[in-house]
Amino acid sequence: TAAFEDTRKAFTSYLNAKYDKEIIITKGTTESINLVAHSFGEAFIQKGDEILISTLEHHSNIVPWQLLCQRKGAILKIIPINDKGEIIQEEYNKLLSEKVKLVAVTYVSNALGTINPVKQMIEKAHLVGAKVLLDCAQATSHFKVDVQKLDVDFVALSAHKMYGPTGVGILYGKESLLNVMPPYQGGGEMIAEVSFEETTFNELPYKFEAGTPNIADVVATKAAIDFIESIGLEQIAKHEEELLKYGTEQLSQIDGIRIYGTAVNKASVISFAIEGVHHQDLAILLDNLGIAIRTGHHCTQPLMKRFGILGTSRVSFAIYNTKEEIDYFILSLKKVLTMLK
Ligand code: PLP
Repeated sequence: TAAFEDTRKAFTSYLNAKYDKEIIITKGTTESINLVAHSFGEAFIQKGDEILISTLEHHSNIVPWQLLCQRKGAILKIIPINDKGEIIQEEYNKLLSEKVKLVAVTYVSNALGTINPVKQMIEKAHLVGAKVLLDCAQATSHFKVDVQKLDVDFVALSAHKMYGPTGVGILYGKESLLNVMPPYQGGGEMIAEVSFEETTFNELPYKFEAGTPNIADVVATKAAIDFIESIGLEQIAKHEEELLKYGTEQLSQIDGIRIYGTAVNKASVISFAIEGVHHQDLAILLDNLGIAIRTGHHCTQPLMKRFGILGTSRVSFAIYNTKEEIDYFILSLKKVLTMLK
């Protein structure tokens, strides 16, 4: 129990939350978002209310809101993006009204790398009384996410995107909100007292942690946080920026390439397509040369549709990557392209 709670405390400090009880341990970003969609949705979303998401969202930040809107008769509205893959702020301003009860956007796009200007988006949402959930799955291993500075209401993240194990995630929520939200799942741990007539619920954070959690992996997650902190997020961001710049320069020189996602503020992924080449063929051949890239729709089918494509190839750079690896990747890509073209 002490080791489990140490991980919670580590996240309190990692996200600069006010209290440990604002850190709910889940099995991942998806579960964290579903928790909010069910619990906050149950209590605070009524017929005719609006929920805003952006075109950039991962399916896990789309489908729970669609389901909630179906249950409640609420309306899901989509904030459009420009051709660079940036949220169009003027359109966001236009969509904001007192009908909007929740804005759920990603901090960093997994498919394009766009880093959204979330601080100003949160400020604007709060002006109309809307709460904000940030999908931070792709943010927390790259730069500091400070929940108090952002004044964000909910943050969802996954440990396995932070060099940690699978099956562990966090929902950060402001204490004032979590306190007035009903339980998500019922079971052991989340109760204070149970009788057949009535059940009273445990205090935060346990009210939202029904059943036996993934104890071993939660404990192991602390090592991942320690690893990131031993290097430092500033150092990680600096290294990844250099790799992104170098990788973009190198890739741009490939014949027939189109890079998807050219936002001014961008994380270290490059999504691309090469004329006349299917991304899956590319990935298989690169894999034979020891290079793992991600291909397909990246769980962002509406975003792919926005660009009129079915998928992209995506290279991602992290703290363990080097410029020499990018050189090897480019060399291998050229080799593979001579086979495919
Ligand atoms: N949101 C984003 C931006 C992601 O990249 C992912 C996973 O790729 C998710 C949400 C879902 O995370 P998980 O499958 O860990 O719940």
